[in-house]
Amino acid sequence: MEMSRIKLEGRDAYPAKTEGGISDVFSDKPFILAKARWVGDEEVSVCIGCDNKFNQLRRKHHCRQCGRVLCAKCCKEKVPLPHLGLEEPERVCDLCLPISELITKARSKITAFQIEAANGISKGVQEPETIIQMVELGGLQTLIYLTRVNSSDQVKRSCASGLHTLATHQPLLPVLAEAGAIKALCSILTNVLESQERLIVDGLSALMLFCKNSSLKTRAIHDGALQPVLQLCGMSSSSAIALLAVQTLNLITEDAKSHQAIIESNHNALGKLLALTVSPDEQMQEGSLKTLAKLSMGTEWHRHKIIQEDFTSGKMILRALKNRPKNIQVLCNVLCLVGNLATCEQDQASLMEYMDCVCRLMVEFKARNELVLHAARAIANFAKCQQNAYRLGQHTADVVAICMKSNVPEVHYHGLRAVFSLLKHSTAITTMDLMKDGATEVFTALASTPGAIENIQQSLLHHVVEIAGP
Ligand SMILES: [Zn+2]
Ligand SMILES: [Zn+2]
Repeated sequence: MEMSRIKLEGRDAYPAKTEGGISDVFSDKPFILAKARWVGDEEVSVCIGCDNKFNQLRRKHHCRQCGRVLCAKCCKEKVPLPHLGLEEPERVCDLCLPISELITKARSKITAFQIEAANGISKGVQEPETIIQMVELGGLQTLIYLTRVNSSDQVKRSCASGLHTLATHQPLLPVLAEAGAIKALCSILTNVLESQERLIVDGLSALMLFCKNSSLKTRAIHDGALQPVLQLCGMSSSSAIALLAVQTLNLITEDAKSHQAIIESNHNALGKLLALTVSPDEQMQEGSLKTLAKLSMGTEWHRHKIIQEDFTSGKMILRALKNRPKNIQVLCNVLCLVGNLATCEQDQASLMEYMDCVCRLMVEFKARNELVLHAARAIANFAKCQQNAYRLGQHTADVVAICMKSNVPEVHYHGLRAVFSLLKHSTAITTMDLMKDGATEVFTALASTPGAIENIQQSLLHHVVEIAGP
């Protein structure tokens, strides 16, 4: 059996594997762990337990659990090792014994033994001295196995805690995922009671660690992370849990393939997220708005669904635009979201009030570049639509003063986009506004845009010919 080495607590570790290439111990019912390498008699001269030299009186014995060579004193106990396919009692060394017994107990049908195993392994992985042995002897697979065969609260609690601890070790994440840990965590979190706060926090925190890992995010979604996370987003009585769920959901939405499932889910994900945007907790506002902003980046249909749901739930986004949180990132997130929604042509009529708020925010926070950037982008997106031209035209002076005169290139660019759209939709009024102030900026920007003057010349020539006729 090929061993793959990882670093754990600064030392080499060889996580246990299953025999015959079966690796997902949550789905595959019977499984046996691969036996450790049998250390050759000739390789050793002293007992690794007591350091005494082997001789005629002190004979060599193999531990069936770890495969190492010890003296009879250090390798005297006999234990059945069902996880290795050994049902009869076998010689196990003193170094392996405590862990070996726990893993053996997990295979028993007696609930009390299984609870003891889950507790013991969960505690063992928390200790830097024992975690490596736990992982090498199959503690990781045992926790996953126990979540499948025992649904008692104690086992669930210990397994969630143990799997969470293991997941905090970055090199173990791929091993855990392969062994079915994400499925195990999802099964623990599904239909959990609100009162089981410790268990939920452990389970969610562990899921979050998988979702943070860019190469395991898709795996986490595939293994069912979305359902429990969506379910827990709406848990109102514990804000800590809801916040963890929203932050995990936010990580999941980084994978655009998840958007459809979130928006179409029967957990009313959009309604829950929108309700959280006006939560008293600013971290929650920030997280839910960021998640919605990501969801609004996909298709026009997704944006439409968000706008529809916002109207159903009482215009939460509008309320978020009118809030004045201490953390400016909250406002940046809501502006980013509205900027995306502004491209949704079929819903422009519903968004007029939002557009006014965006303009007011830009003026109020004109000294904050990061906020102005999001506002300018939203305004430029709104300006593209003919029906917004009149109402947005009332803010031309602000766009000129704040965006066109900004020394942040992106802000300047969005300002120019907005002015061009306005010129196109309501030429006379916008021109008059620009003549009062801003014409210089527009013409300078035009002159410095590669190809702009040539294009205007071409266009003028074309139209002049049309008017003049042959
Ligand atoms: Zn010994
Ligand atoms: Zn041993």
